Formats: sequence, C-alpha cells, structure tokens
Amino acid sequence: MNIEIDYNDLKELGRTGEKIPAIGLGTWGIGGSFSPDYNRDDYWVKIIRKAIELGMWLIDTAEMYARGHAEELVGRAIKAFDREEVFIITKVWPDNYSYEKLIKAAKASLERLDTKYIDLYLLHWPTSNMPLRELMRAMEYLVDQGIIRYIGVSNFDVNLVEEARSYLSREDIVANEVKYSLRDRGIERDLLPYAQKERITVIAYTPLEKGALARDRNLAKIGEKYGKTAAQVALNWLISKHYVVAIPKAGIEEHLRENAEAMGWRLRPEDIMWIEKFYPI
Ligand code: NAP
Repeated sequence: MNIEIDYNDLKELGRTGEKIPAIGLGTWGIGGSFSPDYNRDDYWVKIIRKAIELGMWLIDTAEMYARGHAEELVGRAIKAFDREEVFIITKVWPDNYSYEKLIKAAKASLERLDTKYIDLYLLHWPTSNMPLRELMRAMEYLVDQGIIRYIGVSNFDVNLVEEARSYLSREDIVANEVKYSLRDRGIERDLLPYAQKERITVIAYTPLEKGALARDRNLAKIGEKYGKTAAQVALNWLISKHYVVAIPKAGIEEHLRENAEAMGWRLRPEDIMWIEKFYPI
C-alpha cells in the first residue's frame, strides 16, 4: 500500500487478534446526509483515499448515511487499494431489524460497497422492540456466508451488549460504537470498564464534538508542549485508553493530516490527569 505516513498506531479489534488503526475516518456527511448529494463525488473519493494513505484505513459508514451513497463512495475509493488494506465498518438501520431484512440489507450494503465482504457489521441503534435473538442469528448466518467478518453493535448499553452476546453461539460482539469524547465521558462509568474487561473495542464517534474540541484553548495549550494541536490532543486522549479507537469525520485534507498525526505518540500521564480534571466525567 502507498502509505504516506505510517504511525504504526494499531490496536487489537476485540479479542480477534486482528489489528486496526487507532484512528479511522467517519463518513457521516460525505456524499450527503439524510439523502444523496452527487455533486462532489470525485472530491469525496479523493478524501477517503487520502485518509487511507495517511494510515486511517478504518472506514466507518452506514446504509443510512446519504441513504446508501456514502457506502457507494467508500466502494469507489477502496478500488485503489487491495481489499485487505482497508477495514470497512457499516451498519444496518432499525427499519431492517428482522432476520430476513437484515440479511437483505447486508447484501445491499455489499453491493453498494462493491466489494466481497464487510469487515464489521453493526446494529446501528437499539430499539425497544428489536428481536435481538433473531438479529444475532442473522449476523451469524452472514459470518458463515462470508458476507461479514465480525459482528458488532452501536449505541448499546452494557445490559444490551450482554443480551446480544448471550444469543451468539459461535461468534462474539467485537465492538460497540458509541459517543465518546472529552466533553462526553459518560461511558467511563460502566460501558468502558466493561468493554475493557471483556475485550470489546469501543469505537468512539463524534470524538471532536463536531469540531468544537479543535477550537478548545486549554487543549491547545497542552498541545503546545508536544507540538500538537487541540484536535490532536482530544483524539490522542481517546486512543490513550485501552480498547478505544476513534473515527473523526474530516472533509478537507488539512484536517485528515492533523487527525492522522494524532497517532504515533502519547500524552504523558500528568497531562492526561490535568485534562481529566478539567473535563470531568
Ligand atoms: P466529529 O468527528 O466529532 O466532527 C466532525 C467535524 O469536525 C467536521 O465538521 C470536521 O470538519 C471537523 N474536524 C475534523 N477534523 C478536524 C480537525 N483536525 N480540526 C478541526 N476540525 C476538524 O463528529 P461526527 O461526524 O458526528 O462523528 C464522526 C463519525 O462518527 C461520523 O462521521 C460517523 O461515521 C460516526 N457516527 C456514528 C454514530 C452512530 O450512531 N454509530 C453517530 C454519529 C456519528 P471538516 O468536515 O471541515 O473537516
């Protein structure tokens, strides 16, 4: 692969033995939001490719993003690489929460991604009446068929993760994608300790609070000591936690580079303590 920067900041995915980058790329807003926007397709393909070249070859998308168009753009972008050089996460929306529909949705995502398999497939959000046992059976079927490699969830609390795991016979939940940032540390109360104990990867979404943390003066001040920016401090703080990876969305190359350079170094413990006092749970 044509890796421009190799920070070698890889983390194990769950207890699979497989390594993924500590920082990836989120794709909400790429190619549209709630509906497709085809105006900047070539631009987005370049952005996704650049992220991969910079070492952020963990790409997070969903069937819901731009109503499938984000997946299509990811599919186009990864054509420039060997399939095993990228790790693709996509998600099934609650509209498709039945055994048959979930399998159909995964196949439709695969088609839009124009690839042979999905690396990690997530239930996007829990719902109060989802047939979790049936959904986990469908997930295992997809693994057996080689359509997906790993099973995960998103926005699940500890009880729901436990319940989902209890319905799996051959596989396990390897990841839970949840909101986690310096300004939103709620998962440190129970979900993060549970994930670390059970070796389930936490995929931190909205890690920059939509860009607000990049403008944070206190973080910028800490960053000065390392020659790093506020955004890089915010991301590095996240990946300093065991079993946590982060998926910031970046729409310009400058941000991509900045985010990639949040890997490959670590904040010192005394700075982490200061930051955590400043941004309590
Ligand atoms: P985010 O990553 O915290 O913030 C994205 C915003 O930050 C964009 O406006 C981006 O601007 C800006 N940004 C990125 N890098 C920057 C930098 N180095 N300096 C300054 N600004 C920077 O928020 P998010 O998009 O909500 O979350 C990230 C991803 O998580 C999503 O794209 C999606 O894949 C995933 N997600 C998942 C769920 C779920 O339910 N599973 C929910 C929400 C999000 P530019 O675009 O101008 O670069």
